[in-house]
Amino acid sequence: MKPFTLDHAQSASEAVTGLAAGATAIAGGTNLVDLLKLQIATPDRLLSVRRTGLDAIAADGDGLRIGALVTNADCAADARVRQSWPLLAKAILAGASPQLRNRATTGGNLCQRTRCGYFYDTTQACNKREPGSGCSAKDGFNRIHAVLGTSDACIATYPGDMAVAMLALDAVVHTEGPRGGREIAVGEFHLQPGDDPSRDNVLEAGELITAVTLPAPTGGVQVYRKVRDRASYAFALVSVAADVCMENGRIVRCTLAFGSLGTVPWRDPAVEAVLVGEAPSPALFDKAADVLLRDARGFGANDFKIALARRALAATLNDATKG
Ligand SMILES: Cc1cc2nc3c(=O)[nH]c(=O)nc-3n(C[C@H](O)[C@H](O)[C@H](O)COP(=O)(O)OP(=O)(O)OC[C@H]3O[C@@H](n4cnc5c(N)ncnc54)[C@H](O)[C@@H]3O)c2cc1C
Ligand code: SF4
Repeated sequence: MKPFTLDHAQSASEAVTGLAAGATAIAGGTNLVDLLKLQIATPDRLLSVRRTGLDAIAADGDGLRIGALVTNADCAADARVRQSWPLLAKAILAGASPQLRNRATTGGNLCQRTRCGYFYDTTQACNKREPGSGCSAKDGFNRIHAVLGTSDACIATYPGDMAVAMLALDAVVHTEGPRGGREIAVGEFHLQPGDDPSRDNVLEAGELITAVTLPAPTGGVQVYRKVRDRASYAFALVSVAADVCMENGRIVRCTLAFGSLGTVPWRDPAVEAVLVGEAPSPALFDKAADVLLRDARGFGANDFKIALARRALAATLNDATKG
């Protein structure tokens, strides 16, 4: 591991000053320390943001404000989250292990990097790790890779669970930076790879995530379905987050987000539009899947994800609409 200094910011503004001066934020360290050990991240200065006081969950009008340093364990255990936004608790609890969730934070989870094996193997070409070097996954072992939102430069998925639920819940990321504060819809936070996959999200130099806010609950049925190789302690192959409101046997409101299918947490308003106003049926769910997967492209070993996403969507909608 390359030598680095470690300081502790005592407030958000102190953190912003340190990050703007070139330090790298570390929160729980559950992703970043692995990247340091492999020399994929090689900062000279680390700035811990754990003492910034951003570790509270508080009411925000009819919604909820989750501080960036709230651990995944505390967020999933919060009575308000469990009562009104169970989708978020379910998604978090479907991820990692209890030990990791005790350490991992809201801000760090949003910024976690891809699990593409070639990204972690510094002997392999990877445009995300080393821009311009190529993409070993496209013609390599790409079983976990994306089928939506890919580019010639990169086909890696965003691997997390929490952000998928937040996307279906219309959550907003709050930041502080050298140029002031910003509010960014979760759906606009992560970046598709395009020509420059090295940038995962819209955070600018010196910008700190301070919180995520959830709007008032819809009263819908919330379902998180995660399909993976093992029943626990595994990243998703495909996940679906749904928040569905029914009236008189018809879907009147529906938000859907998908994980590990696209290069970013994936949401497609056209899929939701197909469903709203209709009575649930296998044929309707199939039509929604046709729309979701209209531009899907497999790369060989991940072709199965296209059929898997169809079945995962149908099963999720079945659970969310069965009454
Ligand atoms: C074995 C294993 C299994 C896992 N399984 C899953 C899983 O199934 N599902 C899942 O979703 N996740 C999974 N994870 C990932 C885990 O959830 C993340 O590592 C964790 O959430 C990252 O949070 P952290 O606080 O430890 O971040 P860190 O490792 O401290 O930081 C990660 C990144 O976020 C940046 N950062 C941190 N806080 C802020 C902030 N406030 N503002 C701006 N930037 C910030 C850091 O600079 C760094 O780039 C797994 C991890 C491991 C090691
Ligand atoms: S898919 Fe992306 S992260 Fe994986 S090797 Fe290709 S460029 Fe790197």
